[in-house]
Formats: sequence, C-alpha cells, structure tokens
Amino acid sequence: MGQERFFLELEPPAATQASWPHVVIVGGGFAGLRATHRLIGKPVRVTLIDKRNFNLFQPLLYQVATGLVGQADVASPLRQMVGQAPNVQVLLGEVEEIDVKAKEIVFNERRYAYDHLILAAGSGSTYFGHEEWRPIAPPMKILEHANEIRRRVLLALEEAEQTPDPARRRLLQSVAVIGGGPTGCELAGSLVDLMRHAIARDFKQLRASDCKVMLIDPGDRVLRAMHPKLSEAAGTYLQRSGVELVLGGRVQEITDSEVVLTSKATGAEQRLPAGTVCWTAGVRASHLGKVLAASSGCQVDKGGRVIVEPDFSIPGYPEVRVVGDLCSYSHTSDGKSLPGMAGPAVQMGGWAAADILARIQGEQHAPFRFTDFGSMAVVGPLYAVADLRGIRLSGLIGWLTWGLAHLAFMPEMENRLSLLLKWLWQIGTRERDSLLIIGNHNQHMGVEVGLEQREGQANEAAGAPAPAPAAEAPPAGASPAVDGGPDPVPPAAGSAP
Ligand SMILES: Cc1cc2nc3c(=O)[nH]c(=O)nc-3n(C[C@H](O)[C@H](O)[C@H](O)COP(=O)(O)OP(=O)(O)OC[C@H]3O[C@@H](n4cnc5c(N)ncnc54)[C@H](O)[C@@H]3O)c2cc1C
Repeated sequence: MGQERFFLELEPPAATQASWPHVVIVGGGFAGLRATHRLIGKPVRVTLIDKRNFNLFQPLLYQVATGLVGQADVASPLRQMVGQAPNVQVLLGEVEEIDVKAKEIVFNERRYAYDHLILAAGSGSTYFGHEEWRPIAPPMKILEHANEIRRRVLLALEEAEQTPDPARRRLLQSVAVIGGGPTGCELAGSLVDLMRHAIARDFKQLRASDCKVMLIDPGDRVLRAMHPKLSEAAGTYLQRSGVELVLGGRVQEITDSEVVLTSKATGAEQRLPAGTVCWTAGVRASHLGKVLAASSGCQVDKGGRVIVEPDFSIPGYPEVRVVGDLCSYSHTSDGKSLPGMAGPAVQMGGWAAADILARIQGEQHAPFRFTDFGSMAVVGPLYAVADLRGIRLSGLIGWLTWGLAHLAFMPEMENRLSLLLKWLWQIGTRERDSLLIIGNHNQHMGVEVGLEQREGQANEAAGAPAPAPAAEAPPAGASPAVDGGPDPVPPAAGSAP
C-alpha cells in the first residue's frame, strides 16, 4: 500500500497500521459517529472528516432556541469523543468533491485517497424554491439557527418593552412557527412557555396575554405522522398552553411582519401578523448526494437522497456507502424508505461499519434489519406524546419516556448530567439559564447558504434539474411540506433518537 494510503497522507501513529485499509467517514453526526465508534480498535485506519469540529444532538436544538439549555449542552467536540482512539484521525474540513473512479475525495483543496468511504453528511433545510424566505424565517438545523431564533425572539421582546404603540408591541410579541411536525410542535410549545411564564415575569411593560405563538401547517392536524389520538392530544395540549393552531393553509408569502396563507379548502387568503417567523417545514439531503451522483451515476430521489443498495453501497461501487439522512433506503418489508431520523441513522452507520469490517476479514455479515423503537414528540414542560410500537403514551409519562430516551442517546456523560440538572432546575424554578442575546443578525445564513450554492453548481455539473420546486415534497423525516405537496414517503414524527 503506497504512502498516499496513510492517514490522508499523514503518517499513521503506529507502523503496524500502515497496511491497514483506510476507511474515510464524512460527517460526524448520528450515523458517522456510530460508524466511527464501531471501528475503534479494529484493524482499519479511520479518518473522520466533518466541516464542524463537533457532534450536534439536533433533537434538543429547540431547547437552545428557547434558552432552556446552552449550545455546549447539545454539542460535543469530535476530537474529544473519538479522536483519542489510536486508529482514528479526526480532520476538520468540508468535503466538496468525490472521485469514485480514483477512490478520492477533495477537501481543503486537496485530494485524498480511501479504500472504503462512508458518506454520512446528513441534511439541511429547504424552502421549496422560496430561498428569499430564508433570511426572514430562520430554519432549525444547526446551532447558528437555534441561536438566531433565540436572538430574534428576545430582541423583539426587548423592543416591545420600549415601544409605546400597543399595536407594534403586540406584533413584536407574536411568533409564527411554520411546520407542524415534531420540531415545529416542540419549538412552539417551548416558545409559548418562555414568553408567557419566564419572560412576561421579567418584563415590566409586557402583558403575558399579548404574547402570541402561531403554529402553521397545511394539514388538518399537527404531528401528522403520529397516530391521530396522539396528534389530538398534542394539539389540545398546545392550544391549552396558548399556541394558536393555524391548519389547512398554504404559505404564499413571508415578510418581516406577516405570513400570508391561502386556505386549501376555500382558497381564501389569511394574513397573520408576526414579528418573528421560524421555519421548520422543509428538509433536504446534503449536496454531497448530488456530488456523488455526478461522479458515479447513482440515483438520487426528489429530496436529494442517494438511493442505496441493501448494503448501503451504490451501484458499481461496493466500497462507497451512504448512510443516515443522506440515503434513501427502501429495502424494507413494506418497501417504504426509512425516515430521516436519528434512530435509523445510528443503526445504518453501525451496520455499514460492521459490514466493511466483515468484508475486510472475509466474513459473512447478517443483512441490515431496522429496529423501530417508536416515535415521540415533546410539546411542553412535562408533556410529551410517544408511540412505542403501539404503546401510546401522553402527558407526564410520555415526557419521562422522552427524557430518558434522549438522555440515554446523548453521546457524552457530561452533557447528560448538565441537561438533567438544567431540566430539573427549570421544572423547579421556571427559570431558563441561557436567555442570552448573542451573535450577529442573520448569523444563520452562513453555512447552509454556501451549501445551497454548491448544490446549484452540482446540479449544473450533473445536468440535473434545479432544486426541488415548491410542489415537491421533502425527504422522509421532513416536517410536512407547507405547500401540502405530495409526499413520496410519509413525514416522520420525532423518534426516540
Ligand atoms: C431540530 C431537529 C429535531 C430533530 N428531532 C429528532 C427527534 O426527536 N428524533 C429523531 O429521531 N430525529 C430527530 N431529528 C432528525 C435527526 O437529527 C437526523 O435524522 C439525524 O441527525 C441524521 O443523522 P446523520 O448522521 O445522517 O446526519 P447529521 O446528524 O445531520 O450529521 C451530518 C454531519 O455531517 C457534517 N457534514 C455535512 N456536510 C459535510 C461535508 N460536505 N463535509 C464534511 N462534513 C459534512 C455535518 O457538519 C454534520 O456533523 C431532528 C432533526 C432536527 C433538525
């Protein structure tokens, strides 16, 4: 094996490793991290590449957005998590190109070789062809998004405190959350609690009754992927907490002071004044899916997800695996593709790594079987709904299940303890410890916009059509499309991660 096969041209730490196969993993999220863990201590050299230096626990982003916990509580440095393993090299950089014929990837403007490649670059947000909405209505996929949402909500309240005009004050205290999937419900439930209880108590000029949180969805119920009884329980709880459910309308326009809808049933226009708007309605796969398609000729679905073989490889390239949100895996008993959620991502990442090891060692490996542990969504303090393979829970018991599942899946013990402590503190005092206004205006525009631009370039290179238009549906795991377009697979509820 040539020198170039060492840790991306770096010397391996031990001479014995020089001849070990080189596994490159792109993305240190749920799938990539599990794959890395699976390969620790095995006779392979692993290089984990991520454009961020941390693993992010996305299911708790809404808690960062609403000041319940801080950003370090939901993110852990990758070097600290796996970088100390002797056969794992962690590198920071954004992979921009893949040359499957040469078995090389390009990042930080250099080409590097692999023997096996695991692509686990996850997904980003989409506005279904309405990119002009992104600066007005931040999505919630990365820490910068959560920080921006919190900054906007708190700044609006600060301005309201100093505004003599009652109409303007009411506008500033109104938030619209677009998308009634688990992320939208979680965000709306936590925002109304923040605004009604914690903030109203601290602002002398604001009345709690003027705070308004609207949850907008084109469907006839929130959490459409869950059992109707659980949807109803969640909807009723949200309404009782003060969230206004605005159902059955398509978003036509978003400005910095209102959301304009048309009723799907009557076509009537509805204008909803809102000082802050958040977008949880659309998810699409990382641009790397299309980059891979351009290099290998593999297929991607409408949401940009790579259509994979039963072993997560792509046709003609058994050494390339695609896992997590980036892949469309439909080799299931019902032929439906697995949803873009943490549970499937973790299982896919672990299985793909084990399969690579088995292949290297010339052993047989049992086919991939997904184990569905159920789905859940938290809609307020001490209230969640959970469907654990037919056992339906709501209320406090649902919340306890949700809390235990999330703590168990949290990769770092330190974060588990800090989260538990902060949750208990919040339950006891109703105080949130991370209500800080930090960052710059539109800080959420950075990472994903670059990605969006590259996706456009990848489209051109592949001769593919432009990104999914408004009428197209998000990939599995996306919150329902605001335009109510056809779903190739049912939208997923948040699951036990
Ligand atoms: C707000 C929110 C709430 C959610 N709640 C739940 C829930 O309750 N339950 C549940 O099951 N699921 C939930 N999900 C979905 C779940 O988080 C995802 O399905 C899961 O993160 C997918 O894992 P992944 O490893 O495929 O991608 P990710 O976890 O997104 O990781 C992808 C990684 O790849 C890196 N990366 C991307 N592009 C590149 C590149 N070009 N080069 C290098 N690195 C790159 C990224 O920085 C990232 O670290 C939620 C998602 C969000 C956004």
